[in-house]
Amino acid sequence: MGGGVAQGGSTDGDSGNNGNNGNTAVTRSAAGGGHASETVIENVAIAPVTGPEITRGYLHVRDGRVVALGEGPGPEAPGAERIDGTGCLATPGLVNTHHHLYQWASQGLAQDATLFEWLTALYRVWAAMDAEVVKGAATAGLGWLALSGCTTTTDHHYIFPKGRGDLFAAEIEAARDIGLRFHPCRGSMDRGASQGGLPPDEVVESLPEILAATAEAIDAYHDPSPGSMLRVAVAPCSPFSVSADLMTEAAALARAKGVRLHTHLCETLDEEEHCLEQMGCTPVDYMEKLGWLGPDVWFAHAVHLHDRDIQRFAATGTGSAHCPSSNGRLGAGIARVSEMLREGAVVGLGVDGAASSELTPLGGEMRQALLFQRARYGPAALTARQALEIATLGGARCLGRADEIGSLEPGKLADIVLWRVDGYAAAVDDPVCALVFGAQPPVARVLVAGRTVVADGELRSVPHDAAGRAGADAHRRLLRLAADRGIAVRPWGRS
Ligand SMILES: [Zn+2]
Repeated sequence: MGGGVAQGGSTDGDSGNNGNNGNTAVTRSAAGGGHASETVIENVAIAPVTGPEITRGYLHVRDGRVVALGEGPGPEAPGAERIDGTGCLATPGLVNTHHHLYQWASQGLAQDATLFEWLTALYRVWAAMDAEVVKGAATAGLGWLALSGCTTTTDHHYIFPKGRGDLFAAEIEAARDIGLRFHPCRGSMDRGASQGGLPPDEVVESLPEILAATAEAIDAYHDPSPGSMLRVAVAPCSPFSVSADLMTEAAALARAKGVRLHTHLCETLDEEEHCLEQMGCTPVDYMEKLGWLGPDVWFAHAVHLHDRDIQRFAATGTGSAHCPSSNGRLGAGIARVSEMLREGAVVGLGVDGAASSELTPLGGEMRQALLFQRARYGPAALTARQALEIATLGGARCLGRADEIGSLEPGKLADIVLWRVDGYAAAVDDPVCALVFGAQPPVARVLVAGRTVVADGELRSVPHDAAGRAGADAHRRLLRLAADRGIAVRPWGRS
């Protein structure tokens, strides 16, 4: 595919609105707002992920779903909002399969630490967070995701200090404000240092408290209906911060409620040593014993897998969230994504929390994944289209939503990104190459269920500057709350 995205002018009529030589994705609807129930995107290259790529065509959206797509001009559709996608590549919205939104408030700390050193430095800072910190951090984190082409994201929140407000509700409120499809994971830790775990006792909860709060979160928020904007998962934090009983009970609860399971696994070699020492087996053996392999489970990272682990993941449909920037930042290693894909395992993409990946855009993670795999296995290890597929359909499979999101097909939800592949990127004929190989291109439009969340590189669901400011305020508030508790955070370097 190629050649068609830099050509062509505006469509007919209404030149007062789009007489700007086609360099922005122009809306021709009367209001120009983002909530038309019917939209036609035209003059656009399309990489639908499933089905043939379209050099220059259209996407027709009605009532939040894709009605049709194809080569050539779009349908008449009187009254529809029309978006001129000249110079743009349309892809499915990206799916972020692992995050800790609260960490927006603790970026730039413990810069040169290993995972265990970094966690040990930050647990006591995080213990000071409250609902206001989480709301501000989540607003910034979700805004940043939207600006990098994300339409569906998870969040793994696992620290619930007592008396600090409803942290889970705070991030859900932020997701509603920004307008992303949200899969918050009610996380937990019950194995503090006194029980042989890594976190200090002050940040863990008891098993009965965790199970009650998790069930309550599912009952209050989980929406299993088609097109759902909010689904809850159950997510004990990691083998080194959670008891075997919690893992087992959490799996039973999730399966009784019909929700998915998520946890960190095989992120570092320290974790493998910890498991061998304390559980007498590898992390994946441990998970298997606890009933934690299956098509309703996805793990964050899965870097240090043995051959038999990859085979077990593929055979059971267990998913993995690949987070290359975070793995690079913490020196954790390079996941065996190329081999996992070859074996048929489910792999999605994730940015991980901003404290370990800093300002990572999800769109940029496609490039990181491509480069990491090639650095490890050679230039044929991962193609641009494979990178796009794990960022979209792979993520949808991790979340059990491949029937609704992850590709552009008639009947699927209208979660769509228009990437600007003109301008500097126009010297690349293949727009998918332009999207994945280089710096993340500007985002002309992000639609979630057909609604505009981002237009011309700016958030439209909330005041554009407000999200970034909310994140900075959350950072300052967290450090102040930590200082009130006697935790002094050095502004940079190891803390
Ligand atoms: Zn994580």
